[in-house]
Amino acid sequence: MATSRIAIIGTGVIGAMTAWQLTRRGAEVLTFDAHSPGHDRGASAGESRIFRTIYKEGPGYVPLLQRSSGLWRDLERTTGSDLLTMCGGLTIGRADHPDVQAVRRCAEGHGLDHEVLDANRTRERFPQHAVDDDEVAVFDPAAGVLRPELAVQAALHAAEASGATLLPHHPVRKVAKTARGWRITSNGKDFDADHVVFAPGPWASRLEPLRGLPVEVRLITACWWAARDHAAHLPDRLPITIRRHREAGFSCFPSLDGASIKTVPHHLGFPVLGDPDSLPRNASPEFTRAASAAAARLLPGVVPHPIRIGTYAEGFTPDEHALLGALPGLRNATVMTGFSGHGFKLAPVFGEIGADLVLTGGTAHDIDHLDPSRFTNA
Ligand SMILES: Cc1cc2nc3c(=O)[nH]c(=O)nc-3n(C[C@H](O)[C@H](O)[C@H](O)COP(=O)(O)OP(=O)(O)OC[C@H]3O[C@@H](n4cnc5c(N)ncnc54)[C@H](O)[C@@H]3O)c2cc1C
Repeated sequence: MATSRIAIIGTGVIGAMTAWQLTRRGAEVLTFDAHSPGHDRGASAGESRIFRTIYKEGPGYVPLLQRSSGLWRDLERTTGSDLLTMCGGLTIGRADHPDVQAVRRCAEGHGLDHEVLDANRTRERFPQHAVDDDEVAVFDPAAGVLRPELAVQAALHAAEASGATLLPHHPVRKVAKTARGWRITSNGKDFDADHVVFAPGPWASRLEPLRGLPVEVRLITACWWAARDHAAHLPDRLPITIRRHREAGFSCFPSLDGASIKTVPHHLGFPVLGDPDSLPRNASPEFTRAASAAAARLLPGVVPHPIRIGTYAEGFTPDEHALLGALPGLRNATVMTGFSGHGFKLAPVFGEIGADLVLTGGTAHDIDHLDPSRFTNA
């Protein structure tokens, strides 16, 4: 039987970053994943992710985002990888749209650099977007595009180089308390650990100790569109964009593949999936038609028929803030799940917080709003 001090179950971006941060501080780490690093069945794949600093999800995230930005650069330096391209970010919509207002409030409240462009200025600077006369754009210069598969690989590579033992293709079937810590069963073997970090993404309810946590599995679908003028859709000319329009809404990513740009439609909702393993590998004709109509209406430089569709599972909590902290009622267990569609950009700082919690039982970061007991105590 193998023994290890800290076991991490799940190496999507959250588990991978936690492994990197723990090994950086000299901890002994053993990681398990049912699949290979950077796989496309969970939440941490699909070529690109948005990084932004002006945050509509809550101004309390700004210090976490600023710390995360520095840690992304640390990981790039440590591994020699190119993970984050600062192409800037746009939020486009009517001036009275709640997301446009939230972004402006966040920028003004934190004194963050930003520009507010009227419709004409937006068209001049960003002709890739069709903009109505009553719309504005808020430009965030501290925003960019992340490469998710590479990021997961880089964090795990850094962890392994500092001594972590990685076990891909090791689905954890059972996690049981022992007198000293935990016993983890995978591929017919038992592994002992003093502390377990549960980072299973949308598979949370499959692990017995996490069953009571309110994590709903949802399907998020991404579409890639051929760009007619490819050069105009590269990161040096097309920022990441949150688009809010009366007919549609999506996030939009500049071209990283040399041919197409990506959107993740939001206005069609993120359907609930009973089981992350039942992820459909294609979109319905209705979804594709509606996504095409949005591209035809709002992205004049693309051919509005998707050349690629990707489907992904993500865990959502009722308030759409993650569960990050001690597992209620259990010692030596940290849970990190339910990142609700916006965890990627924050993964390095969440990894740092995970390491703080495991090694010291607390953290200097303000994460009260992520306390897992907020639902169990309600
Ligand atoms: C399409 C899409 C677009 C998104 N866009 C953005 C964005 O632009 N910006 C942003 O910040 N965030 C975005 N997000 C959210 C962000 O990507 C996620 O919050 C983040 O990737 C969650 O990572 P995770 O590690 O929690 O989950 P996952 O990546 O799903 O990782 C969980 C891992 O645990 C493993 N696992 C689970 N159970 C077990 C078990 N029993 N045994 C072994 N292994 C197990 C799984 O195999 C998996 O590898 C997006 C999400 C999606 C799906």
